[in-house]
Amino acid sequence: MPDSRTHDILTVITGVALVPLSYSFCRSQLLLVHADALVTTLWLVGAHIISGVMFSPDLDLDSAIDNRWGILFWIWRPYMWLIPHRHFWSHSLIFAPLLRLAYFYFVVTGVLFLWVWLLGLLGVLVADFPVLLFYALRSLLAANPEVTLTVIIGFCTGSAIHTIADWLVTGGRRFLGIFGIHVVRDYSRHDRAIHHRRIRRT
Ligand SMILES: [Zn+2]
Repeated sequence: MPDSRTHDILTVITGVALVPLSYSFCRSQLLLVHADALVTTLWLVGAHIISGVMFSPDLDLDSAIDNRWGILFWIWRPYMWLIPHRHFWSHSLIFAPLLRLAYFYFVVTGVLFLWVWLLGLLGVLVADFPVLLFYALRSLLAANPEVTLTVIIGFCTGSAIHTIADWLVTGGRRFLGIFGIHVVRDYSRHDRAIHHRRIRRT
């Protein structure tokens, strides 16, 4: 399987390739003016790259990816423990990236809930932040349906590039195996999981 750096390069290359495709689609099919086509393309490519780099399917193992979250790496610990590596839950084209988004939202909500509850125990009354977050997000999404859809599509394509690359490498090895050619490259350091686990400083 490609390592995290190869996946990053693929994410950036496909993100750059998406720019002319998205821009011309917005202009010719959606009939957007230049500025709107540009903004839509930026949303799409931004979501594509953030999805591939920060919300990578390989968050399902202790990899280079969760280290990128710095001191917030623990957000992805339960995800890593619960989701089997390279399973449908993390390496499918549409369901998996949307699951990661939903998971991220629920963790943030959970932390806010805990914070409000602990402050309440100490006698400090604060606003109900989980509820505020829910309503703020809901009105933001309702007010910007096109941007929401664009970001979701970009989020799915960023993840899909990773998954397809994994499938191609695995399928390629099987295909060569049919002809008696066995690829002997060592994939045990897939995503450099072992190396990065040891250098964690947090
Ligand atoms: Zn993978």
